[in-house]
Amino acid sequence: MNLNEIEVLLEKQRNYFSSQHTKSISFRKKLLKALRIEVALREQEIYAALQQDFKKSQFETYLSEIGIVISELDLTISKLNSWARPKKVKSSLLNFPSSDRIYSDPYGSVLIIAPWNYPFQLAISPLIGAIAAGNTVIVKPSELTPKTSNLIASIIEKVFEKEHVAVVEGGRDVSQNLLKMHWDYIFFTGSVQVGKIVAKAAAEHLTPVTLELGGKNPCIIDETANIKLAAKRIAWGKLLNAGQTCIAPDYILIKESIKQSFIDQLILEIEKAYSQNPEFSSDYPRIINEKNFKRLKMLLSDENIVYGGQVNDEDLYISPTIVESPDVTNELMKDEIFGPILPVLAFKDHADLERVILRYNKPLSLYVFSSNKNFITKILDTFSFGGGAINDVMVQFANHRLPFGGVGHSGIGAYHGKATFDTFSHKKAITKRANWIDPPFRYAPYKGKLSLIKKILRLLG
Ligand code: NAD
Repeated sequence: MNLNEIEVLLEKQRNYFSSQHTKSISFRKKLLKALRIEVALREQEIYAALQQDFKKSQFETYLSEIGIVISELDLTISKLNSWARPKKVKSSLLNFPSSDRIYSDPYGSVLIIAPWNYPFQLAISPLIGAIAAGNTVIVKPSELTPKTSNLIASIIEKVFEKEHVAVVEGGRDVSQNLLKMHWDYIFFTGSVQVGKIVAKAAAEHLTPVTLELGGKNPCIIDETANIKLAAKRIAWGKLLNAGQTCIAPDYILIKESIKQSFIDQLILEIEKAYSQNPEFSSDYPRIINEKNFKRLKMLLSDENIVYGGQVNDEDLYISPTIVESPDVTNELMKDEIFGPILPVLAFKDHADLERVILRYNKPLSLYVFSSNKNFITKILDTFSFGGGAINDVMVQFANHRLPFGGVGHSGIGAYHGKATFDTFSHKKAITKRANWIDPPFRYAPYKGKLSLIKKILRLLG
């Protein structure tokens, strides 16, 4: 779609929004229900698209794409009436008599730009909240997962009028054309680098943004942790989607005394899940494209590989790989790895943890495995990060009551469950005054009223 076509489409959406159609809660619910039916009907097509795009298994596709979308839809449909109802708040005595309410108002025309790594879920989950809040929406899925992008376009076309919700497919050029437009809200999920481009484009129009970005997520293990369980959970979290997950543990920081037993246990768990040759496991996905494959392959030049390190150029396969004690200045420890390579570093004390973790910008997630309450509390108090888990990895994503988002370089804003509805709603604050009394003290002339206003404000304070 070229710039001119995008302009025409957006203009149509603006007119549609102005027609007030999207303000009706029953209209929003009707469409969310239709979307739910369509997603369920197309389940097999979603599996096929993800399989063709990067060999993602049906189980992982249900767990991390379809299942999440369906439960967000169910929750939103069942809660929308109460979320959208104006919220009464206590009024200020200064305004006596009055009643005060917060109205959830749609922003208007919203742009959602999605990444490739959970290409269905990360396009549709924010869309659910944007529709629920009463916006018109254009979704731009990732060009790196073309089958899923096509399928998203086809599902959306089936359910929505183009004036209300439309999909614009394409790569960087299309994305940049979209960003030239004046949006009322932009929701972006992707890399830090592109996040900055989005933030700059949004600033041009003072458009509010949510940026869901990435980071280098530490995973800390002390000697009081249940090593066997930690290894099992970390192997699962690191290798889901072949490590191409924004909240995957990026590197391990572990007490030296338990490092070797953890590595042994991790290898056992990897082989239990994917066999000794994961290349032939139908559960193990591939790297998304040549560019990322080459980047990861280069990281495999580290001489401290203690497990894995195999690649297949033709199939973009990289085996689960463990690198022991790489130097923090190594390429591997520079940026988010975003692949199935796990560095395991040792730490002695809290100062060591600070030295490593604070080298990087604030991560999206942090994980700690320990049974020591004081140790856990100190970590949660010391470090700033988007969110995380204790004694597990990535599971924070599964609770819609926990807002999901980064801080600093890992993102701005948060969503999931009600937080998604709130993200796409402007909170319009309204004070309704009564007319039966009108205390005179705020009006000029002010002579002799200063001490009175001081007293009143103190009383209210
Ligand atoms: P990406 O930033 O390369 O692409 C994301 C989207 O931006 C795509 O739709 C793409 O077409 C578009 N885009 C790419 N280059 C652009 C440019 N120059 N100008 C405008 N638009 C452009 O990210 P990706 O490779 O698809 O995804 C991986 C990254 O996303 C990782 O860094 C990961 O941590 C992050 N991520 C974050 C979350 C989260 O929820 N915080 C979730 C998934 C992925």
